[in-house]
Amino acid sequence: MTKKKRVLSGMRPTGPLHLGNLLGALANWVAMQATYDCFFFIADWHALTSDYEKPDHIKGFIREMMIDWLSVGLSPDKSTLFVQSRVKEHAELYLLLSMITPVPWLERNPTYKDQILQLSNKDLSTFGFLGYPVLQAADIIMYKPAGVPVGVDQVPHVEITREIARRFNFLYGDVFPEPDALLTETPKILGTDRRKMSKSYNNAIYLSDGPAEIAAKVAQMITDPQRARRSDPGDPDVCNVFSFHKLYTDPATVTDIESQCRTARIGCVDCKKIMSGNLIKALEPIRDKRHYYEDRPELVEDIMHTGSDRARDVARATMAEVRGAVKI
Ligand code: SF4
Repeated sequence: MTKKKRVLSGMRPTGPLHLGNLLGALANWVAMQATYDCFFFIADWHALTSDYEKPDHIKGFIREMMIDWLSVGLSPDKSTLFVQSRVKEHAELYLLLSMITPVPWLERNPTYKDQILQLSNKDLSTFGFLGYPVLQAADIIMYKPAGVPVGVDQVPHVEITREIARRFNFLYGDVFPEPDALLTETPKILGTDRRKMSKSYNNAIYLSDGPAEIAAKVAQMITDPQRARRSDPGDPDVCNVFSFHKLYTDPATVTDIESQCRTARIGCVDCKKIMSGNLIKALEPIRDKRHYYEDRPELVEDIMHTGSDRARDVARATMAEVRGAVKI
C-alpha cells in the first residue's frame, strides 16, 4: 500500500467559524481526509499575535473551533486534530528558525503591511507580529508535509516557509522537504453586506447560528443594488443572494429564479425566503452534530488531547533531527 501524502493546515481561534470558513477551507479539508494524511491544528499562539491584549476568549474559541471542525466532518479517526500550544516543540523550532530568517523577508510580507494598515486600532508593531511567518514556517515544516492547502491570498506564506526551509537545509543539511501550496478552488460568497464575509465586518452567517438567526440575516442581505422597486427587473449576476442560491438551491429552481428575477416576476423578499429555507436545511446536520459535541465537553477535550499527543510524537522526532543538524 502506498503511503498517503501528508498535508497540514491551521486556523487561528479568534472567533466562531462562518460559512466563508466552511466553503473557503473546511469543506476542502474534509474532502482531503479521504486521500491524504491530514494534520489540522488550532493556531492559538497565532491568535496572540494580534489579540495579545485580550487573550481571555482564546480558550473558549479553541473549544468552539474544535466543535465546528467536528460538526462539519473533520474526524479524529481520519486526521490528526491538535492544538498548537500543546506541542511546545513548535516554540523551539520557531526560535531556531528565527536565528536564520533575514528580517527583510518578514518586512516585505504583503499580509504584514496589509494588516498593519487594516488593523490600525491595534498596536501590531511587535516582534511577535513581524515574526509570525517564522512561527508559521515552524508549524508547517515540523510535520514535513508534501503540501499546504491554501487560498490564493496565502500563497506568499507558503513561499516564505519554503525559503526558510531551504535556508535551514543549506546551512545545516537536508532536514526539511519544501511543501507545495495546494491551491483550493472555492465558491465565491460574500457577507450579508456584500463585503468579504468576516467576523470583524459583522456580516457573517455562523455555523452555530440557529434557523431564526439565519433567516434574519438573510432578510437583511443586500441584493442587486440597482433593483430599487419590486417592479424593477433584477440582475442575479450581481446579487449575493443568487450566489447562495447556486450553492444551496436545486438547479431547476435556480434557473427559474434567474428568469423570474430578470423579468421582475419574483420579489427579493420571497426570493430570500426560498434561499434561507434551503440554507437552514443544508446546515441542519452541522447544527445537530454541534449540539452533540456541545453536550459532551469531555469528548471534545479528549479529541484535542489525543490529537496533540499524536502530533507531539511527530514533532519530537523532527526536533531530534533538527538538534542534531544544528549541533545543539
Ligand atoms: S430576486 Fe433574488 S436574485 Fe433577484 S435581485 Fe432579488 S434577491 Fe437577488
